[in-house]
Formats: sequence, structure tokens, C-alpha cells
Amino acid sequence: MHINKIIVIISLVFLFASWRIDGFVAGSNEPVKKENKTATNKHLNSYKKFHADELVNIRIFSQVKIQSFTISAEKGIYSVWANGTEIANTSTMALVKLSLVNDSVEVKTFENVIGKFKKVKISSAETERIFRMKLLLPDRKPRFYEGNLIVTAELGELKCINDISLDNYIAGVVQAESGRRSPQEFYKVQAILARTFALANLQKHSAETFNLCDHTHCQVYFGKTTELEIMKAVNDTKGKVVVDDNLSLINATFHSNSGGQTANSEDVWGSKVSYLRSVNDTFSIKMPNAKWERKMSKEDWLSYLKLKHNFPVQDSNARWLALTFKQETRKAYLESNNIKIPLKNIRSDLQLKSTFFSIYPMGDSLLFKGRGFGHGVGMCQEGAMKMAKLGYKYPEVINFYYQKTQLIDLHKLNFFKDE
Ligand SMILES: [Zn+2]
Repeated sequence: MHINKIIVIISLVFLFASWRIDGFVAGSNEPVKKENKTATNKHLNSYKKFHADELVNIRIFSQVKIQSFTISAEKGIYSVWANGTEIANTSTMALVKLSLVNDSVEVKTFENVIGKFKKVKISSAETERIFRMKLLLPDRKPRFYEGNLIVTAELGELKCINDISLDNYIAGVVQAESGRRSPQEFYKVQAILARTFALANLQKHSAETFNLCDHTHCQVYFGKTTELEIMKAVNDTKGKVVVDDNLSLINATFHSNSGGQTANSEDVWGSKVSYLRSVNDTFSIKMPNAKWERKMSKEDWLSYLKLKHNFPVQDSNARWLALTFKQETRKAYLESNNIKIPLKNIRSDLQLKSTFFSIYPMGDSLLFKGRGFGHGVGMCQEGAMKMAKLGYKYPEVINFYYQKTQLIDLHKLNFFKDE
């Protein structure tokens, strides 16, 4: 968190201290506890400062306009803090409800309304701490998170930020991105890629006062992992990241299935990246998403090409090419008479599983026979899973899909870069 933002928040705390409801700990003889601020000061803003128990701020339910939810402790005792003071804790109240009321966060127990605040923090000092969060409005299934929660009222919704250790966050991402019951070595690969991505993108939402969101924009994250094997994979690869020739963290992009050949970065995103090169990927070809088929009428296909891309379908050569287009190896364009249509555009317009397809005429229809699923750049997840099953180790998998990269421990990287 930037110093300026800390100052703004502290000013807000003083500003609203005047109207907070006094006496919210009435009935309790305990002295009013003051929040320990030091724990919140070691957030990770740059991987250069990395050490093992750094914290990251992840916006959760980032696609949901939250109006109200309940929170309870699943493991450990949690305290609810506002204006630097403890206003409730889970040892005396099993369930706390937070709602958006008049642009503030209203905190309520079964018995009474504790107060309305601009910012509420729900935290636990214990090492093993898990909270359960259940959205009421809108209604969502409960989720379980490790670490702490910061809730603010902003622009008609409750903004929820999970304050969590980097590795616990990574374990949650690995489960969301790669599912359960995968080989251990595959989990290690996904853990290293998730860590590399997280550290390379810590500033992605810095203007919004958190590091990463929990949606595909950053990395998908639904809360804590339920798999011991995933946590073990994260611990076994602690601090490991992937860097390129310039010792920069790589853009660790991946997709479901390459169809037998991965794509060059420039054919999909326009820019050439040294380690995102097309590789011949035999590991992916017998996996679940290796093939797809789609039928389309000739008329629909030709009118799409003509209307959207001005492809010369009236020209018999061009027309023949469009109706019998083939890819033995990946191509980037469908082209004729100086008209080049990027296959990535055709894929997104027609919502095809991949750009790696060939076309076979069948009477009035066409059969698109496709290979792979996803953009095709970087690691093929199903191929990596196959490699893991065949006994390849995680460095071999990473070096196969991201060529000429290095696996390195962060502290060694810092030493090497003299920073
Ligand atoms: Zn994001």
C-alpha cells in the first residue's frame, strides 16, 4: 500500500471516528482492544522484497456487486475491527452480518446493530485461521478463505479484499485453475506459474488499493484449497519462479490443449516473445480436449467471410480455398489475393475452440475439424498433465513449453540482479 493511501485511510478513520456508535462493547468488561497495525505493513508490492510469509491483497467476488453477507470463523477466533477498535469477535458471536446501508458497512449480530462504518477489518492473530463467507444479496454458495478480510463501502457495493499469505493464495489459484485429482508434479508446475504470474502482476490493481482480482482478468481464485496435495506442491516449490534471458519474470500463459502444436505469441497477440515459441507437442494429442468438430452451412461461412472481412468469395480460386482450407501445422491466416484474415479473429467471431482447424465440404455443409482448445500460447495444461503422468519432473515440463527460460529461487534472483 502506498504511503499516500495509508495517510488517506488514517485521515478517514479520524474523520469518521466522530460519528461511530459509542458503547458498542457495552456489557463487556473487557478493555477495548486496539488493532495491531504492524501486521498490515508488510504487503507485497514488488517481488524484489519477497520473503516466504509475505501478504497479498486479493479482491474476492470481484464480479459481484455485494450488498450483504455473513461471516463466521471456521478455524481460529476472528475479531471485527472498525476505526482501530475491536467491535465484535467470533468467540462471543458465532455469526456477523455485514450489509451496505447508506454508503456504509453496517455490522450486525443476532441481537443488535453494532454500527455503520466506512471500513471494517475482520482478522485473526492465529496461524491457523479460516473464515466462512456466505453472500446473502446476491445469493451465492459459501466459500472458505484463509487470512483476513477488509470490507469497504464503495460506489453502491461492498468491496471485499482477502489479506492472505502469497502461498495460501497460490494454492487456491492452483485448485481453481487446474482442478482436483491431478498428478503431484503437475500441481508443482501450476504452483510455479501461479506464483510467477502473481509476482509479475502485483501492481495490476494498485490504483484500486489491492494487488490482484479473483477473476480470469488476473487468476481465478475461489478461496482456500481443499487438497493437501496442492498445499504440498506449493510448499515443495516455495519461492520458485520462471524468468527469461533478461531475468524478468515470464508471462506464464497457458491454455487447455494445444492440439499437437503450440502457437507463436505473435500469431495470437501480435508481439513476439522469446520464450512463447511454437513447439511440437505430442503429449496433448490423445487428451480430452485434443479434437473438436463443428458443422456450418457453406452459405453462412461464405457470407461471414464476405461481409465481415471482404474476402473475395466471388473469385473461384479464393472461394475454393475458403471451402477447403487445411492446416497440417498451425497457420496464422486464411489468405487469398492479398486479403489476410487472422485466424484468431475467425475463432473469436465464430466462437471456435481453437484456430487450429481444417475444413471439409459435405454437400451444402462444411465440417470444421479442429485440434486443441484455447489460444495455444505457452503451456498446454493437458499436455503438461500427460508429461507428469509419464514421469517428467516439473523443470522438464516448464522448459518444454517455455523454451530458454530459467527456474530460479526468488532470493537468488534478487542476489543475481544486485537489487
Ligand atoms: Zn484483475
